[in-house]
Amino acid sequence: MIELASVGRTYGSASAPVTALRDVNLVIQRGEFMAIVGPSGSGKSTLLNLIGCLDQPTSGRLLFLGEDTSTLNDTKLSRIRNRSIGFVFQMFNLVPELTVYENIELPLVYAGVTRERRALTTKVLERVGMDHRADHPASLLSGGEQQRVAIARALVNDPALILADEPTGSIDPDSAEQVMELLGELHDQARTIVLVTHNMSVAAVAQRVVRIESGTINEIGAAVRPDDRAAAAAVMPAPDWTPLR
Ligand code: ADP
Repeated sequence: MIELASVGRTYGSASAPVTALRDVNLVIQRGEFMAIVGPSGSGKSTLLNLIGCLDQPTSGRLLFLGEDTSTLNDTKLSRIRNRSIGFVFQMFNLVPELTVYENIELPLVYAGVTRERRALTTKVLERVGMDHRADHPASLLSGGEQQRVAIARALVNDPALILADEPTGSIDPDSAEQVMELLGELHDQARTIVLVTHNMSVAAVAQRVVRIESGTINEIGAAVRPDDRAAAAAVMPAPDWTPLR
Protein backbone atom coordinates (compact mmCIF):
# COMPACT_ATOMS: atom_id res chain seq x y z
CA MET A 1 0.00 0.00 0.00
CA ILE A 2 2.84 2.37 0.94
CA GLU A 3 6.48 2.10 0.04
CA LEU A 4 9.32 4.32 1.23
CA ALA A 5 12.60 3.98 -0.68
CA SER A 6 15.71 5.66 0.77
CA VAL A 7 13.52 8.38 2.25
CA GLY A 8 15.15 11.32 4.02
CA ARG A 9 13.62 14.42 5.59
CA THR A 10 15.79 17.36 6.56
CA TYR A 11 14.45 20.52 8.18
CA GLY A 12 16.09 23.91 8.51
CA SER A 13 18.47 25.73 6.20
CA ALA A 14 21.40 24.39 4.17
CA SER A 15 23.79 26.01 6.66
CA ALA A 16 22.03 24.52 9.73
CA PRO A 17 20.22 21.35 8.62
CA VAL A 18 18.32 19.12 11.05
CA THR A 19 18.05 15.58 9.72
CA ALA A 20 14.84 14.03 11.07
CA LEU A 21 14.90 10.90 8.87
CA ARG A 22 17.70 9.30 6.91
CA ASP A 23 17.62 6.50 4.35
CA VAL A 24 14.34 4.96 5.51
CA ASN A 25 13.21 1.87 3.58
CA LEU A 26 9.82 0.55 4.58
CA VAL A 27 6.92 -1.26 2.96
CA ILE A 28 3.48 -1.14 4.57
CA GLN A 29 1.21 -3.85 3.24
CA ARG A 30 -2.54 -3.40 2.92
CA GLY A 31 -4.25 -4.77 6.04
CA GLU A 32 -1.20 -4.47 8.29
CA PHE A 33 -1.32 -3.16 11.87
CA MET A 34 2.05 -1.53 12.41
CA ALA A 35 3.41 0.35 15.41
CA ILE A 36 6.27 2.83 15.10
CA VAL A 37 8.15 3.19 18.39
CA GLY A 38 11.15 5.22 19.47
CA PRO A 39 12.23 7.92 21.88
CA SER A 40 11.10 11.53 21.66
CA GLY A 41 12.77 13.36 18.78
CA SER A 42 13.63 10.13 16.91
CA GLY A 43 11.51 11.01 13.86
CA LYS A 44 8.22 9.18 14.52
CA SER A 45 5.93 12.12 13.78
CA THR A 46 7.98 13.11 10.75
CA LEU A 47 7.58 9.58 9.39
CA LEU A 48 3.83 9.54 10.10
CA ASN A 49 3.39 12.93 8.39
CA LEU A 50 5.13 11.59 5.29
CA ILE A 51 3.00 8.42 5.24
CA GLY A 52 -0.10 10.64 5.68
CA CYS A 53 0.85 12.82 2.68
CA LEU A 54 1.00 15.87 4.97
CA ASP A 55 4.65 16.36 4.08
CA GLN A 56 7.10 15.33 1.35
CA PRO A 57 10.52 13.64 1.62
CA THR A 58 13.55 15.81 0.89
CA SER A 59 15.26 12.75 -0.62
CA GLY A 60 14.15 9.30 -1.78
CA ARG A 61 10.67 8.27 -2.91
CA LEU A 62 7.35 7.58 -1.23
CA LEU A 63 4.74 5.60 -3.14
CA PHE A 64 1.15 5.77 -1.91
CA LEU A 65 -1.04 3.17 -3.63
CA GLY A 66 1.62 2.97 -6.32
CA GLU A 67 1.81 6.73 -6.97
CA ASP A 68 4.98 8.71 -6.27
CA THR A 69 3.69 11.48 -3.98
CA SER A 70 6.31 13.96 -5.24
CA THR A 71 4.52 13.96 -8.61
CA LEU A 72 1.10 14.80 -7.11
CA ASN A 73 -0.17 18.37 -6.77
CA ASP A 74 -1.83 19.75 -3.62
CA THR A 75 -5.34 18.96 -4.85
CA LYS A 76 -4.48 15.31 -5.47
CA LEU A 77 -2.67 15.01 -2.14
CA SER A 78 -5.59 16.49 -0.24
CA ARG A 79 -7.95 14.12 -2.05
CA ILE A 80 -5.82 11.16 -0.87
CA ARG A 81 -5.88 12.52 2.69
CA ASN A 82 -9.62 13.08 2.65
CA ARG A 83 -10.66 9.81 0.98
CA SER A 84 -8.04 7.25 1.89
CA ILE A 85 -6.67 8.26 5.29
CA GLY A 86 -8.23 8.76 8.72
CA PHE A 87 -6.08 10.69 11.20
CA VAL A 88 -6.19 10.25 14.99
CA PHE A 89 -4.08 12.60 17.13
CA GLN A 90 -2.88 12.55 20.74
CA MET A 91 -4.83 15.72 21.61
CA PHE A 92 -7.94 14.66 19.61
CA ASN A 93 -8.06 17.92 17.58
CA LEU A 94 -11.84 18.20 17.76
CA VAL A 95 -13.54 21.57 17.22
CA PRO A 96 -14.56 22.31 20.84
CA GLU A 97 -17.62 24.45 20.08
CA LEU A 98 -19.13 21.93 17.66
CA THR A 99 -21.22 19.01 18.87
CA VAL A 100 -20.05 15.40 18.75
CA TYR A 101 -22.24 14.84 15.67
CA GLU A 102 -20.97 17.97 13.89
CA ASN A 103 -17.34 17.04 14.54
CA ILE A 104 -17.83 13.59 13.07
CA GLU A 105 -19.62 14.78 9.92
CA LEU A 106 -16.97 17.43 9.15
CA PRO A 107 -14.90 15.30 6.71
CA LEU A 108 -18.11 14.54 4.79
CA VAL A 109 -18.91 18.27 4.63
CA TYR A 110 -15.42 18.90 3.21
CA ALA A 111 -15.84 16.04 0.74
CA GLY A 112 -19.17 17.51 -0.44
CA VAL A 113 -21.20 14.47 0.62
CA THR A 114 -24.84 15.51 1.15
CA ARG A 115 -27.33 12.68 0.56
CA GLU A 116 -25.66 9.98 2.64
CA ARG A 117 -24.20 12.32 5.26
CA ARG A 118 -26.66 11.63 8.07
CA ALA A 119 -26.62 7.85 7.64
CA LEU A 120 -22.80 7.65 7.49
CA THR A 121 -22.33 9.95 10.49
CA THR A 122 -24.88 8.06 12.58
CA LYS A 123 -23.31 4.72 11.70
CA VAL A 124 -19.83 5.63 13.00
CA LEU A 125 -21.28 7.51 15.97
CA GLU A 126 -22.93 4.24 17.03
CA ARG A 127 -19.81 2.27 16.08
CA VAL A 128 -17.74 4.04 18.76
CA GLY A 129 -20.58 4.03 21.30
CA MET A 130 -21.05 7.81 21.42
CA ASP A 131 -24.59 8.10 20.02
CA HIS A 132 -25.95 9.05 23.46
CA ARG A 133 -23.74 12.16 23.35
CA ALA A 134 -24.49 13.22 19.75
CA ASP A 135 -25.67 16.74 20.66
CA HIS A 136 -23.05 17.35 23.35
CA PRO A 137 -20.39 20.01 22.70
CA ALA A 138 -17.02 18.28 22.21
CA SER A 139 -15.48 20.54 24.87
CA LEU A 140 -17.59 18.88 27.59
CA LEU A 141 -16.36 15.32 26.96
CA SER A 142 -13.68 13.41 28.87
CA GLY A 143 -10.40 12.69 27.10
CA GLY A 144 -11.39 9.08 26.39
CA GLU A 145 -14.74 10.16 24.94
CA GLN A 146 -13.06 12.80 22.80
CA GLN A 147 -10.71 10.18 21.40
CA ARG A 148 -13.63 7.89 20.51
CA VAL A 149 -15.26 10.82 18.69
CA ALA A 150 -11.96 11.51 16.92
CA ILE A 151 -11.82 7.86 15.81
CA ALA A 152 -15.39 8.13 14.50
CA ARG A 153 -14.38 11.26 12.56
CA ALA A 154 -11.39 9.37 11.14
CA LEU A 155 -13.70 6.52 10.07
CA VAL A 156 -16.58 8.46 8.54
CA ASN A 157 -15.10 8.48 5.03
CA ASP A 158 -14.41 4.74 5.29
CA PRO A 159 -10.64 5.17 4.75
CA ALA A 160 -8.38 2.23 3.94
CA LEU A 161 -5.64 3.59 6.21
CA ILE A 162 -5.83 4.89 9.79
CA LEU A 163 -2.85 6.86 11.11
CA ALA A 164 -2.79 7.33 14.87
CA ASP A 165 -0.18 9.54 16.59
CA GLU A 166 0.07 8.61 20.31
CA PRO A 167 -3.70 7.96 20.47
CA THR A 168 -3.54 6.84 24.11
CA GLY A 169 -1.05 9.49 25.23
CA SER A 170 -3.59 11.82 26.87
CA ILE A 171 -6.28 9.49 28.20
CA ASP A 172 -6.85 7.33 31.28
CA PRO A 173 -5.89 3.61 31.22
CA ASP A 174 -9.47 2.28 30.86
CA SER A 175 -10.14 4.59 27.92
CA ALA A 176 -6.76 3.67 26.45
CA GLU A 177 -7.80 0.02 26.56
CA GLN A 178 -11.08 0.86 24.77
CA VAL A 179 -9.25 2.88 22.12
CA MET A 180 -6.77 0.06 21.46
CA GLU A 181 -9.60 -2.49 21.28
CA LEU A 182 -11.37 -0.25 18.78
CA LEU A 183 -8.24 0.05 16.65
CA GLY A 184 -7.81 -3.74 16.86
CA GLU A 185 -11.39 -4.25 15.64
CA LEU A 186 -10.84 -1.84 12.75
CA HIS A 187 -7.78 -3.85 11.80
CA ASP A 188 -9.81 -7.06 11.95
CA GLN A 189 -12.13 -5.41 9.40
CA ALA A 190 -9.22 -5.26 6.94
CA ARG A 191 -8.12 -1.69 7.54
CA THR A 192 -4.44 -0.79 7.56
CA ILE A 193 -3.39 0.83 10.84
CA VAL A 194 -0.15 2.68 11.53
CA LEU A 195 0.27 3.79 15.11
CA VAL A 196 3.01 5.94 16.64
CA THR A 197 3.74 5.44 20.31
CA HIS A 198 6.57 5.53 22.79
CA ASN A 199 4.73 2.99 24.94
CA MET A 200 5.83 -0.61 24.24
CA SER A 201 2.68 -2.06 25.86
CA VAL A 202 0.57 -0.13 23.37
CA ALA A 203 2.85 -1.19 20.51
CA ALA A 204 2.45 -4.82 21.57
CA VAL A 205 -1.14 -4.68 20.34
CA ALA A 206 0.12 -4.27 16.76
CA GLN A 207 1.18 -7.11 14.44
CA ARG A 208 4.50 -5.57 13.60
CA VAL A 209 6.73 -3.11 15.45
CA VAL A 210 9.18 -0.77 13.73
CA ARG A 211 11.73 0.94 15.97
CA ILE A 212 13.17 4.25 14.94
CA GLU A 213 16.17 5.91 16.51
CA SER A 214 17.85 9.14 15.40
CA GLY A 215 15.89 9.07 12.16
CA THR A 216 16.88 5.53 11.21
CA ILE A 217 14.85 2.35 11.32
CA ASN A 218 17.05 -0.10 13.13
CA GLU A 219 14.82 -2.94 14.21
CA ILE A 220 11.70 -4.59 12.90
CA GLY A 221 10.00 -7.25 14.95
CA ALA A 222 6.75 -9.11 15.32
CA ALA A 223 4.46 -8.11 18.17
CA VAL A 224 2.07 -10.30 20.16
CA ARG A 225 -0.81 -12.21 18.59
CA PRO A 226 -4.22 -10.48 18.41
CA ASP A 227 -5.50 -12.85 21.14
CA ASP A 228 -3.05 -11.23 23.53
CA ARG A 229 -4.42 -7.71 22.90
CA ALA A 230 -6.52 -7.54 26.03
CA ALA A 231 -3.64 -8.77 28.17
CA ALA A 232 -1.27 -6.27 26.58
CA ALA A 233 -3.71 -3.40 27.02
CA ALA A 234 -4.28 -4.37 30.65
CA VAL A 235 -0.63 -3.86 31.54
CA MET A 236 -0.42 -0.38 30.04
CA PRO A 237 1.01 2.01 32.63
CA ALA A 238 -1.17 4.97 33.58
CA PRO A 239 -0.28 8.02 31.47
CA ASP A 240 -0.13 11.51 32.91
CA TRP A 241 -3.78 12.41 32.84
CA THR A 242 -5.72 15.45 33.87
CA PRO A 243 -9.48 14.91 33.77
CA LEU A 244 -11.53 17.61 32.05
CA ARG A 245 -13.75 19.63 34.35
P1 ADP B 1 9.26 12.32 17.41
O1 ADP B 1 7.89 12.34 16.79
O2 ADP B 1 9.89 10.97 17.45
O3 ADP B 1 9.29 12.99 18.74
P2 ADP B 1 9.90 14.26 15.34
O4 ADP B 1 9.60 13.59 14.05
O5 ADP B 1 8.88 15.23 15.86
O6 ADP B 1 10.24 13.18 16.46
O7 ADP B 1 11.28 15.06 15.22
C1 ADP B 1 12.48 14.47 14.69
C2 ADP B 1 13.58 15.53 14.65
O8 ADP B 1 13.25 16.54 13.70
C3 ADP B 1 13.80 16.24 15.97
O9 ADP B 1 15.18 16.52 16.08
C4 ADP B 1 13.01 17.51 15.81
O10 ADP B 1 13.57 18.55 16.61
C5 ADP B 1 13.17 17.81 14.33
N1 ADP B 1 12.01 18.53 13.77
C6 ADP B 1 10.73 18.07 13.70
N2 ADP B 1 9.93 18.97 13.09
C7 ADP B 1 10.72 20.04 12.79
C8 ADP B 1 10.48 21.29 12.15
N3 ADP B 1 9.29 21.64 11.69
N4 ADP B 1 11.54 22.14 12.01
C9 ADP B 1 12.77 21.80 12.45
N5 ADP B 1 13.07 20.63 13.05
C10 ADP B 1 12.06 19.75 13.22
